[in-house]
Amino acid sequence: MKKINEIFYSIQGEGFFTGTPAVFVRFSGCNLSCDFCDTQHQEGEIMSREEIFEKISLYPSKHLIFTGGEPGLFIDAGFVQFFKNAGYFIQIETNGTCRLPKNIDWITCSPKENLLLEEADELKVIYTGQDLSVFKNFNASCRYLQPCSMKNTEKVVDYIKLHPQWRLSVQLHKLLDIP
Ligand code: SF4
Repeated sequence: MKKINEIFYSIQGEGFFTGTPAVFVRFSGCNLSCDFCDTQHQEGEIMSREEIFEKISLYPSKHLIFTGGEPGLFIDAGFVQFFKNAGYFIQIETNGTCRLPKNIDWITCSPKENLLLEEADELKVIYTGQDLSVFKNFNASCRYLQPCSMKNTEKVVDYIKLHPQWRLSVQLHKLLDIP
């Protein structure tokens, strides 16, 4: 049984899969407490994987995104496989502080502190002016830099132009007011 904050169908607004219709399963609970966090970690409904499946199967997309909170705290390979067996492509959005099951299709690592992962498919960093050289040896096929709450876009663009190994990720859903 998992504590699920919300399940919703939308367009991925960030990173590599920007623009992709996807079903989001947001877990309640995190091992960090970032100032800018917008998840209500106290709220949520206890659900079995069958109940989660019942809800997500109402939507036509087979792109499933586990987000949070920190979903890595709550899932294992059996949980992931249950949804893969139903035909889903599994993406996780993680803060990178936990070891993850090996059968996840796409890992988006968005580190804040205490980074444990050394590789992911995608590294997505919220830029607040911090030293990004700490990610020099992080193994990821693509690296995204994202403005913090859309407030410092100009600085992010300037940084990327000087460091072209990074790409810009904007929160498209916020920009276009997509629910
Ligand atoms: S890691 Fe993510 S979910 Fe956890 S507190 Fe920070 S912003 Fe919120």
